[in-house]
Amino acid sequence: MSDNNTESVHDVDAVDAVVVGAGVTGLYAVHKLRELGYRVRGFERGADVGGVWYWNRYPGARCDVESADYSYSFDEELQQAWDWSEKYATQPEIMRYLSHVTDRFDLRRSYTFGTSVVSAELDGETLRWTVRTDDGDGGGEVLSARFCVFAVGCLSSTHQPSIPGLDSFAGDTYHTGEWPHEGVDFTGLRVGVIGTGSSGIQSVPLIADQAAQLTVFQRSANYSIPAGNKPLDEEARRELKAGYAERRRLARLSGGGSPFMTHPQRTLEVGERERRKAFEKRWELGGVLYSKTFPDQLTDLAANHAARAFWEEKVRALIDDPAVADLLVPTDHPIGTKRIVTDSDYYETYNREHVRLVSLRENAIERVEGQSVYLADGERFELDALVLATGFDAMTGSLDRIDIRGRGGRLLKDDWSAGPRTYLGLGTDGFPNLFNLAGVGSPSVLANVILCAEQHVDWLTDCLAHLDAHGYVAIEAAERAVEDWVTECRERAAATLMMSADSWYLGANIPGKPRVFMPFVGGFGAYGEIIADVAASGYKGFDLIPG
Ligand code: FAD
Ligand code: NAP
Repeated sequence: MSDNNTESVHDVDAVDAVVVGAGVTGLYAVHKLRELGYRVRGFERGADVGGVWYWNRYPGARCDVESADYSYSFDEELQQAWDWSEKYATQPEIMRYLSHVTDRFDLRRSYTFGTSVVSAELDGETLRWTVRTDDGDGGGEVLSARFCVFAVGCLSSTHQPSIPGLDSFAGDTYHTGEWPHEGVDFTGLRVGVIGTGSSGIQSVPLIADQAAQLTVFQRSANYSIPAGNKPLDEEARRELKAGYAERRRLARLSGGGSPFMTHPQRTLEVGERERRKAFEKRWELGGVLYSKTFPDQLTDLAANHAARAFWEEKVRALIDDPAVADLLVPTDHPIGTKRIVTDSDYYETYNREHVRLVSLRENAIERVEGQSVYLADGERFELDALVLATGFDAMTGSLDRIDIRGRGGRLLKDDWSAGPRTYLGLGTDGFPNLFNLAGVGSPSVLANVILCAEQHVDWLTDCLAHLDAHGYVAIEAAERAVEDWVTECRERAAATLMMSADSWYLGANIPGKPRVFMPFVGGFGAYGEIIADVAASGYKGFDLIPG
């Protein structure tokens, strides 16, 4: 392999596009870019495809959007060929599905696995990108690419909490987002789980099934709703497949990328009985869509209180000890302003003798020493294993780790130091022919991400076909369009309750990260219309650069 600074022209692989990441977004991007006739190279840090489903193998990992919706829609035969076994598929089943898709469209041949893209540098003259990779073993490649497509994921850089002594914990430590492939057997062990977001809440009941003692360390309580998960029998699967066309049509119009619409009226416009009926229906549906029962739940505090009160009544009924229930009911943020968790038996787990909930709010973890976790008041927990369900440096974490230099050597990370700057989430001024998919500035994590990935990739490949058909070499977001989009995203978020929670949407979970609401809050369907309109107008807001 050549030294990064001295590679000769012959060492450099010239391609049309480099795709970074082999999660649901990268895989579809490779497929569609190849359909354009492009020479594409994909790179993935993991040893195989799958993205978050490759990394997050903790017990209880499942999708929180129904399997039928959290699946590709672009190929009718694929849709009809795949049988989901449960309403919410487990991580292994989703991995089997993504592997099936990969084989079906022969996508692995375009990828180099176990290899990270470490830098991308623009040549301001040719407008081509020099991309460098690292295989972690002293090797790597240099490529020259016309297009750089980042599909690095919003939740792909784990957040390791800075707890004194954690690194030297004498038991075993696991992060939910980097779970060992061989699995972990907690049978008979004293286990501690730090973190009660989706990953903690999904894993706690299963860890409790094995552990001799389980201590859950909770800093903030979260809102969770039982999934109502169930097996899908032959008849249910037949019905799903027959109804796919309509299901997808509705999903594309919806706010969240699933085929469910909010109640037509505002929360307090309807009577008490009607309101409870609507909440009950959503509760039965299970999961995150509870936050979209009524259209004003995330904009009007009184409406939010009504949703919250119903939730609290339901959840308290599941927990035997009212003092434990007091700890499990959030008081610090409106419901839905952090992602609502979709669980199976989470609250009931605290009714088990060997499970203890420890609130860190007034009594934080002070240090880890040997096999012990000490709280500020001196209480000590002797543990054999610690599970860190502490989340991710979300939305920007993986991009920040790549040295991306655009016009004049500008570093993307510096450009985004006060928060991400994009036009439509897709492009940034100063970085022509560089695209960031299903991430900041777009609905991404606020919607069904597989449909978001399809929406972005379809837009992108239509755009590139347009460039080629009209003899343009490059496309670049205009500075003004970026500024306007940043303002629009900020103003839309400010008009909601989303700014009031210390969520990872705002970067609040990472010390020192600017507090900026990173996804586009206006809804999946509305966003689809905006980007379609931009394309139809001949890509207004972008500069198209002739050859
Ligand atoms: P990812 O799946 O994150 O894939 C990105 C890939 O890029 C990763 O494999 C990573 O290793 C790779 N990568 C990053 N940087 C580099 C680099 N420099 N070089 C090479 N490779 C790199 N969303 C939903 O809509 N519904 C759900 O039910 C749902 N469940 C989730 C469950 C978990 C446990 C998590 C963590 C997230 C979940 N999400 C869910 C959100 C999830 O992020 C998306 O659904 C989706 O899987 C993201 O796909 P992606 O391809 O965009 O990114
Ligand atoms: P998360 O929502 O960010 O939760 C992290 C948890 O760790 C929080 O409870 C946080 O407390 C706690 N924490 C972080 N640092 C800590 C510290 N130093 N000391 C004590 N506690 C600390 O992360 P996640 O659970 O991995 O989920 C991230 C996102 O991934 C979800 O919101 C969801 O979008 C997706 N996901 C989905 C599913 C699914 O159901 N399909 C499953 C997993 C993940 P604070 O809240 O106080 O910061």
